[in-house]
Amino acid sequence: MVTDDLLICGAGPAGRALAHRALAHGLTVTVVDPNPHRRWTPTYAAWSDELPDWLKPNTIAATVDRPVAWTTRRIELDRPYVVFDTPALQDSLDLSGARLLQDRVVEITRPARHRTTGLDLPSIRLASGPILPAGRVIDARGVPRSRALAEQTAFGVIVDRTRWPDTDTYFMDWRDDNGADPNEPRSFLYAVPLNDNQVLLEETCLAGRPALDLTTLRDRLHTRLRSRGITLTGTEPTERVRFPLHGGKPSPSAFGAAGALMHPATGYSVATSLSLADALIAGDPIWPLPARAVNLLRHAGLRALLTLPPPDLPLFFDAFFTLPTASQRAYLSDRDHPRGTAAAMASLFAALPWRVRRALATAMVSRGVAPTR
Ligand SMILES: Cc1cc2nc3c(=O)[nH]c(=O)nc-3n(C[C@H](O)[C@H](O)[C@H](O)COP(=O)(O)OP(=O)(O)OC[C@H]3O[C@@H](n4cnc5c(N)ncnc54)[C@H](O)[C@@H]3O)c2cc1C
Repeated sequence: MVTDDLLICGAGPAGRALAHRALAHGLTVTVVDPNPHRRWTPTYAAWSDELPDWLKPNTIAATVDRPVAWTTRRIELDRPYVVFDTPALQDSLDLSGARLLQDRVVEITRPARHRTTGLDLPSIRLASGPILPAGRVIDARGVPRSRALAEQTAFGVIVDRTRWPDTDTYFMDWRDDNGADPNEPRSFLYAVPLNDNQVLLEETCLAGRPALDLTTLRDRLHTRLRSRGITLTGTEPTERVRFPLHGGKPSPSAFGAAGALMHPATGYSVATSLSLADALIAGDPIWPLPARAVNLLRHAGLRALLTLPPPDLPLFFDAFFTLPTASQRAYLSDRDHPRGTAAAMASLFAALPWRVRRALATAMVSRGVAPTR
């Protein structure tokens, strides 16, 4: 039996990025996924400075130099943001040379002496029966939905730019023109260009347990856009978003959402998976102690979001986006420097009204959202 250097369970953005980079480094690779050729449809985006150098420029559909956060006022962010061309991203993570198996991994086994090779190898068991050993097995199967996990939800429509004359790109727009009562769970508008001709307008529930349902988000989006002069016809292409914000496990043998690379307070993981693929392949530790500490702090951030009274969310983000860009970046993207993350959180805390601080302090000491599966 041929034993590969690397066996990857899951062909989402994380598994595919890892497989692609492993092939580029000359490894033999098998990827198992129930549907390895499934075309990705989500609109993925990231901060430009998070992307690895090896990523092809044609994977970027749009770059926005100064996205806007509308909190209680308009704030321009001094940090370029990119929206991926999802099909181009998937194609650029070329898997020519990998063995693709259409199957489901039902078990991953720790290294054990393997009969045919005589080596201590990890292995997987496929739903169809076979057991496959490999030099290394990486779990990139994502995180299944569960009632216990906080989720992000969103409902979006894609419209022609001519119908959306606003030239701002809204990373978050918390204005209260979506018809929701101020005491109901909040949602914001995410509005980004997809290319020169189209924009995605998405009503987003950042984090909820349970998160807002998609019907509510659709109705809010319709109300919001109507109040800005746009009536939807119902024929616009849509994007539906629902995924767990946490639940992965920090581990040297897991990657992507399954490996806790998703930022639990934002839901972003794609850029982190792209940028960490080479390190994992090189055998570098991707979960040194500082990264584990940052992960815990980020989970405290998710607890805060889940605890804050709905009317306070715009105030919270107003304080956050008023922080220096370096502090915003430390919290949103830096996974290796707990001091920077903690300092950003402390500055944010200090900038908030007392009432909001009290709610946050309670959240920080509660143990509602565990960082592990
Ligand atoms: C609509 C939408 C928009 C998003 N936008 C962004 C964004 O802008 N930026 C960002 O960073 N993140 C975004 N996210 C969140 C997150 O980054 C994505 O969910 C991302 O796809 C996670 O990648 P992943 O490869 O870790 O996991 P997944 O994408 O969940 O991939 C897991 C793969 O494993 C396979 N699999 C599952 N079970 C098995 C099994 N038993 N055996 C073998 N294979 C299995 C699945 O078929 C799948 O292909 C978005 C999510 C959604 C849904």
